[in-house]
Amino acid sequence: MIERTLSIIKPDAVKNGSVGGILARLEKAGFKILAIRMVSMSKKQAEGFYAVHSARPFFGSLTDFMSSGPCVPLVLEGENAIAEYRKIMGATDPAQADAGTLRADFATDKEKNAVHGSDSPENAAIEIAYFFTGCELAG
Ligand code: ATP
Ligand code: MG
Repeated sequence: MIERTLSIIKPDAVKNGSVGGILARLEKAGFKILAIRMVSMSKKQAEGFYAVHSARPFFGSLTDFMSSGPCVPLVLEGENAIAEYRKIMGATDPAQADAGTLRADFATDKEKNAVHGSDSPENAAIEIAYFFTGCELAG
């Protein structure tokens, strides 16, 4: 099934100059980049995005990090895009991520882990709408 998923190149990866490298990997893996932008989230916007994690002990630190500088949200489209992109992303903690995954190659720790990916069709729809309007998704 052709799906859409929301990816974010997180502030750590933007700061260390990994945007181009990550985009090249995504294109090479066959994803269509349907929409892309750069955004500097406020603390409130980061809290809104990660609201599902609001009870977790790392919520304050995670939302500080996500609002610490520009990030690059993008919409990827492809066959089983949600699961396929999570495979390429690798485990949350880069120390546990398989060799060749984005987090193994671009991330530094389990919070500053270079990329985000939606985890279900429901959350993909919510997360895509958080950053992009219908017009931007015309493909
Ligand atoms: P994401 O949702 O960003 O794609 P994920 O699904 O692999 O990552 P989640 O469990 O949804 O991981 O956690 C969301 C984000 O919160 C992680 O990507 C990471 O930045 C941060 N995070 C998760 N666990 C921890 C932790 N134990 N300590 C610090 N930060 C964490
Ligand atoms: Mg997640």
